[in-house]
Amino acid sequence: MAKEKIYGKTLSELAEVTAAASLPPYTAKQIAGWLYKRGAPEISGMTDLSLKARILLEEHYETGLTPPSSEIASADGTKKYLFRIDDGRFVETAYIPDRDRATVCLSVQLGCRMGCRFCMTGRQGFQGNLTSGDILNQFRSLPEHPSLTNIVYMGMGEPLDNLAEVLRSLEILTSEWGYGWSPTRITVSTIGITNRIREFLEGTKCHLAVSLHSPFDEERQTLMPVQKAHPVREVLDIIKAFDFGRQRRVSFEYIVFKGLNDTPAHVRELARILNGIRCRINLIRFHSIPGSEYSSPGLKEMEAFRDSLSNKGITTTIRASRGEDISAACGLLSTLELNKNK
Ligand code: SF4
Repeated sequence: MAKEKIYGKTLSELAEVTAAASLPPYTAKQIAGWLYKRGAPEISGMTDLSLKARILLEEHYETGLTPPSSEIASADGTKKYLFRIDDGRFVETAYIPDRDRATVCLSVQLGCRMGCRFCMTGRQGFQGNLTSGDILNQFRSLPEHPSLTNIVYMGMGEPLDNLAEVLRSLEILTSEWGYGWSPTRITVSTIGITNRIREFLEGTKCHLAVSLHSPFDEERQTLMPVQKAHPVREVLDIIKAFDFGRQRRVSFEYIVFKGLNDTPAHVRELARILNGIRCRINLIRFHSIPGSEYSSPGLKEMEAFRDSLSNKGITTTIRASRGEDISAACGLLSTLELNKNK
């Protein structure tokens, strides 16, 4: 019988494990220490647990940490890793070094059910949720793990569509008994699921990024079908009513498509709908994907759009394109791997 994975369990879940094995209550915190601070790859290596405890645990559990199955490196230092989840299904994890920052971009689902028209992951359709252990394994088993300074949940899948596992992973990352990371070094990016966003905001102190891509309902719905069920105006109303405090940031991701969503009308409407929100817009140049009807803008067009938004008083930055030589668009690599196994 396959053993259950213990990595990715919260302290209260580890307490359930130790209680079921009739081990002393303090054992749960010892196991958490090994899993999230000391990095024991095996239960047998948790040497301050009694021998009896290790034998009992090993009967039913394994840590579940797995290294990436392949990697590809860009000339600019960005790397993409594939982590195998199960028979032939992979998720992508990106490592992005940038001066004094080193960021890992985590995936939360196999594929995605949101169907955004410009996204390769969306074309894969939904194949399943990752567990908290699967999500965190991309962080812990990344070869560059010791040098990481930031975490973004911006890889494959929609975090609010797998909210329970995402919140568990964030609890482990930010708890004193877990990795002890500051939530201000973690950003979760969502397309905005109206009935879940409040639970996310109340359940963590991590930064929020919302994928906007157009301020016009009809145009956004063409790009992102989710707009119909979860109108961005409702998402903005929730954000406006929430107290983010001084430390927590909200930002809007805006993929710029050549000649589509970067007109003066877009500038005016963005300024109107974001009025009253202390935020930043991150402009992202569209990375072309096979068979797409959209094309990438030039740097001059990006800069002109940025300047127009800045002139309206919106802090706007252009996110540097990274890893273009290694299939930078999210979902391209795992789609190639998926197709190999068909
Ligand atoms: S952009 Fe994000 S939410 Fe949309 S289909 Fe791709 S992975 Fe899913």
